[in-house]
Amino acid sequence: NADLAMYRAKATLGENLCFFQHGMDETARQRRQLAADLRHAVDRGELSLLYQPQRSLHTGQLSAYEALLRWHHPTRGLVPPDDFIPIAEENGEIIRIGEWVLREACREARKWQSTIKIAVNLSPVQFLQPGLVETLREILVETGLSPSRLELEITETAIISDKLRALHCLRQIKSMGVSVAIDDFGTGYSSLDTLHSFPFDKIKIDKSFMSRAEHSNQARAIIRAVLALGRSLQIPVLAEGVETEKQLAVLRDEGCDEAQGYLFGRPAAPPREREDASEPARTASATGN
Ligand code: C2E
Ligand code: MG
Ligand code: MG
Ligand code: MG
Repeated sequence: NADLAMYRAKATLGENLCFFQHGMDETARQRRQLAADLRHAVDRGELSLLYQPQRSLHTGQLSAYEALLRWHHPTRGLVPPDDFIPIAEENGEIIRIGEWVLREACREARKWQSTIKIAVNLSPVQFLQPGLVETLREILVETGLSPSRLELEITETAIISDKLRALHCLRQIKSMGVSVAIDDFGTGYSSLDTLHSFPFDKIKIDKSFMSRAEHSNQARAIIRAVLALGRSLQIPVLAEGVETEKQLAVLRDEGCDEAQGYLFGRPAAPPREREDASEPARTASATGN
């Protein structure tokens, strides 16, 4: 009976829609809850930083540690940055959180050997915020860290929305002696022209290219192209997400300058306070990622 079949189909569709709707409500509710919880994260001491080494492939030396944010939620446990940073950007909390990250990272780096830099990720919201330069100045004075030891990592998203403003921000930061790297390069929409007119100190090739480098000629071609670009603009290139010896061999072949990834060390607790803070502490929290 055609009517009955139609009736059943409609009923099923209705149920599915209802389920779908419920799923959406639940996701929205969870997001609102996380956003509310995030407002107390700094004050309640729920944030921490892990540090991942970056190595020079020319000298083998440790050149920097990148600070990576972790949120220890009281009931949900560890929430990864990709899950809460977009929420913090939406509700504005990223400004306070970002300031906490900068202060904490600079304070920590002050304890290390003076040749090692600290790399700190900056949200586009934070980068384009009017008070950033003053905040940076205050934090550097307060922690006593030399500006030359701080490197900020920004993504292409931070520069494409308003190029003039971004260029102004970048110049101000650089005039303080702080360096700036472009992160996740190759995944955004910036043109070669943009890269040329922005005085970056480092290009970080996105880890998605590394994961495909061993098997995909295309990924390898992109890595090669970015390296050529870096050479012609005289900007050092770092490869992210290096996990295997094979990948490292590819990078050496192509003449990559620096690398970062599980092969060299996972994000881990702050390096111990020894004279040459040359290795990250391999504590249990290395599993934090
Ligand atoms: P990112 O800055 O590109 O950081 C690299 C990410 O790759 C980190 O993820 C790191 O743990 C992971 N990673 C490192 N080596 C490897 C590897 O060999 N293989 C693989 N598969 N992954 C590797 P994490 O810590 O989850 O951070 C994700 C993103 O969250 C970061 O990407 C960054 O965009 C953002 N983020 C982290 N900390 C902060 C922060 O303090 N402020 C802001 N605004 N964003 C942050
Ligand atoms: Mg980064
Ligand atoms: Mg990256
Ligand atoms: Mg990233």
